[in-house]
Amino acid sequence: MSEYKTKARTLLVEYLKSNPDKRFTARDIYEEILKNFPTVNRTTIYRNLDRLCEQGILVRYREPNQDSWFYQYSSGHQHCNEHMHAQCTECGKIFHLENQFVDDFEEKLHSVYGLDISEEKTIIIGKCDQCSSKFRKRKNRK
Ligand SMILES: [Zn+2]
Ligand SMILES: [Zn+2]
Repeated sequence: MSEYKTKARTLLVEYLKSNPDKRFTARDIYEEILKNFPTVNRTTIYRNLDRLCEQGILVRYREPNQDSWFYQYSSGHQHCNEHMHAQCTECGKIFHLENQFVDDFEEKLHSVYGLDISEEKTIIIGKCDQCSSKFRKRKNRK
């Protein structure tokens, strides 16, 4: 790997790693890296994002009604391209659904509906415990 590519990759991973609870579009990431590395080219960043997702270092997903992909650091989880994820819409926390019951669910979907889930692209949207309790507290105060 050339020095140029290594630098681009390092900046990219460091940036996402230091913001593990945030999601970014490819454009956000490119613009951020540009600040520290003005000669970086967009294609290099986009290619690195693809590769890091294939390697399971980043999670990539698309939300309903959004045109662009979001990228987020997988927080040390591996094989993020092989399991589904859930995300809290309030705080952005990611859940790695590496449980047996999720696999069973996928198998059931396949046997009942003939549907093969694209794990890499599937994200379940919800509200985490912490954010729901914040909400409940606010509600109770009224
Ligand atoms: Zn994961
Ligand atoms: Zn939350």
